[in-house]
Amino acid sequence: MLTGFTIGLRYDARWEAAANFEPGEASLNKRDQQDVVDLFVIGGGINGCGIARDAAGRGMSVELAEMNDLASATSSASTKLFHGGLRYLEYWEIRLVREALIERETLLRAMPHISWPMRFVLPYHKDMRFEGDTPTSKLLSIVMPWMKGRRPSWLIRFGLFLYDNLGGRKILKGTTSLNLAGTPEGAPLEDRFEKAFEYSDCWIEDSRLVVLNARDAMARGARINVRTKVSAAEQIDGIWHVTLEAQDGAQRTVRARMLVNAGGPWVEDIIRNTVRINASEGVRLVRGSHIVTRKLYDHDKCYFFQGKDGRIIFTIPYETDFTLIGTTDADHTDTSQKPVCTPEEQSYLLDFASEYLKQDISNDDVVWSYSGVRPLYDDGASSATAATRDYVLKLDQSTGAPILNVFGGKITTYRKLAESALDMITPFFEGRDKIWTAGVPLPGGDFPVDGVPALCEKLRAHYPFLNARWVDRLIKAYGTDAFLVLGDAKSATDLGQNFGANLTAREVAWLVENEFAQTAEDIVWRRSKLGLRLSTQEIKTLDAWLTAAPPQQRAV
Ligand SMILES: Cc1cc2nc3c(=O)[nH]c(=O)nc-3n(C[C@H](O)[C@H](O)[C@H](O)COP(=O)(O)OP(=O)(O)OC[C@H]3O[C@@H](n4cnc5c(N)ncnc54)[C@H](O)[C@@H]3O)c2cc1C
Repeated sequence: MLTGFTIGLRYDARWEAAANFEPGEASLNKRDQQDVVDLFVIGGGINGCGIARDAAGRGMSVELAEMNDLASATSSASTKLFHGGLRYLEYWEIRLVREALIERETLLRAMPHISWPMRFVLPYHKDMRFEGDTPTSKLLSIVMPWMKGRRPSWLIRFGLFLYDNLGGRKILKGTTSLNLAGTPEGAPLEDRFEKAFEYSDCWIEDSRLVVLNARDAMARGARINVRTKVSAAEQIDGIWHVTLEAQDGAQRTVRARMLVNAGGPWVEDIIRNTVRINASEGVRLVRGSHIVTRKLYDHDKCYFFQGKDGRIIFTIPYETDFTLIGTTDADHTDTSQKPVCTPEEQSYLLDFASEYLKQDISNDDVVWSYSGVRPLYDDGASSATAATRDYVLKLDQSTGAPILNVFGGKITTYRKLAESALDMITPFFEGRDKIWTAGVPLPGGDFPVDGVPALCEKLRAHYPFLNARWVDRLIKAYGTDAFLVLGDAKSATDLGQNFGANLTAREVAWLVENEFAQTAEDIVWRRSKLGLRLSTQEIKTLDAWLTAAPPQQRAV
C-alpha cells in the first residue's frame, strides 16, 4: 500500500507553477479576463515550444496551445539524432549542415541527460549507389562518367573531412577508418564489407526535448495549454483574437499582439483555414517510418547503410534491448490520416538492413513501429528525398497584425530556428532582442557534459534501493531532477504503486504535475519509452489509475 504524502507539495518553488497547471475547461474559464499577450504560439512540437521558451526568457508574455499532447506529432517520430546530416552534403546544403554541426555541441552541453554522442559506422563497398539527382551526382556524371552513381572512397572520406571540420568540434571525436575483419563492428555485417569509416553525431530523446522546453518556458512565465486546439484566429484593430477549444468543447478567446504558426504538418491548413490569410507558401508532407526490432548486435555503435536506390538508413542501438531502423521517404498528402509504418515500408526497411547484416531479419523481429510526417517547405523539389530540410520563416502582415509561419526545420536546429524567429518577432516588441538560450541548460541538464556516470553514482548512493538499470533510466530522463522525482523515498515502497518496469506512482505524479502528461499513452510513449516493456494490461492499469483520480488530487 502507498505511504502518506501528497504529490505536488515536495518540489521547490520553481515547480509550484507547474502544480497549478489546469488543463481543459477549468483553465479556459480562469483565463477569461486575460489581458493581451505579446505572443501566441500555435503548436506544441519542438518548434513551437522552442520559440515559446526563447520568447518567455526575453520577458515577453507568451501563451501556447497544443491540440493534442506535446510532441504528439512529428517531434516524437524522428530518428532522434542531433546531426549535421551527412547526406545533405550531397545536395550542397552547406549552410544547413554547418549550422547543425555547430549546434550539436551547444545542445549537448545544455542537456547532457537526454542527449549523448554516438559513433556511426559507414561500411564502404565500391558498388554502393548514391541518389542520382543530387548536384554531386550531376557533377560526377560529367567529370567521372564511368562511376555511374557510385562514389570513390576518397570522395566519401572528403565528405567526412568536411563534416568533421565545417562546424568545429570540441567534444565529439573525428572520423576514423576501420578494417572490419575480426572487430565487433564487423561481426554483425556480411563478410564482403571489409572497410568502413566511423564518424560522430549525437542521440537526442526527441519528445523529452519538447517537454523540457515547454517546462522551461512555463518556468519563465509562459502559459502552456495542452489538448487545446486553436480553431480560429481573427485580426480586429491590430490585435489577434484567438479562439481556443478544449477537448470537451469549451471555448475561450485569447487576445495577442502577434501569432506564431508552428503547426508542423498543419502549418498550411492553419494559414488557409484557421487564420485565413492569402499566403502563397506551401508545405510538402513527407512520411518517414521506423521499425524497432529485438537487439540485433552487442556493441553501442550505429550503422549508416547505403541502399541500391541511393537512399540511406540507420540502425541504432535503442533503449538497451532493442535496435531502431529507419527511415523511409513517402509523400503523405492528407493530414487527417495518422501516419503509420505500412507493411511495404516495414518490408523495405527489413530488406535494406538484411542486405548488410549477416543474419537476415524478418517481421518476427519487429516489436514496434512508428511514423511521422516531415513538414518540409515546398520548394518544388522533384523527389521527397531531395526536398530541402532547411527551415523557412515567413512573416505576414497582410491582415494588419503580424503572424510568423514556420516551415520545415530539424530537431537539431530548433534552438537556432527559435533565435531566427525571435529576430523577426522582436522588432514588434522593444528591448526584447537579447539572445540568451545558448549555454543555458534545460531543466535537469545543469551538470557537466560527461557527468552522467558521476550523477548515476550519486543517485545510487542517495537511493541504494535502486538497481543500476533503474538509475540509468532516471538520470537519462530527468538528470539532476531525478532527486526531485524521488524526493524523500527511503525504499521502493515509498514510491507507491509499481505499474511495471519500475514506473512508480511517484514518477507518474511528477509527469502529470510537472510535465503536462495526462494519459498512459503520454507517459509510456512520449515522456518515456516504457511502452516497449509494459504489457497491454499494465498500460490499462496505469490508464485506469490516472482516470480514477489525477495525481494532484490524490494522497498516495
Ligand atoms: C521520420 C523523421 C525523422 C526525422 N529525424 C530527424 C532527426 O534525426 N534529426 C533532426 O534533427 N530532425 C529530424 N526530423 C525532423 C524533425 O522531427 C521535425 O523537423 C520537427 O519535429 C518538426 O517540429 P514541428 O514543431 O515543426 O512540428 P510538430 O512536432 O508536428 O508540431 C506541430 C504541432 O502543432 C500542433 N497543431 C497543429 N494544428 C494545431 C492547432 N490548430 N491548434 C493547436 N495545435 C495544433 C500539432 O498537434 C503538433 O503537435 C525527422 C522527421 C521525420 C518525420
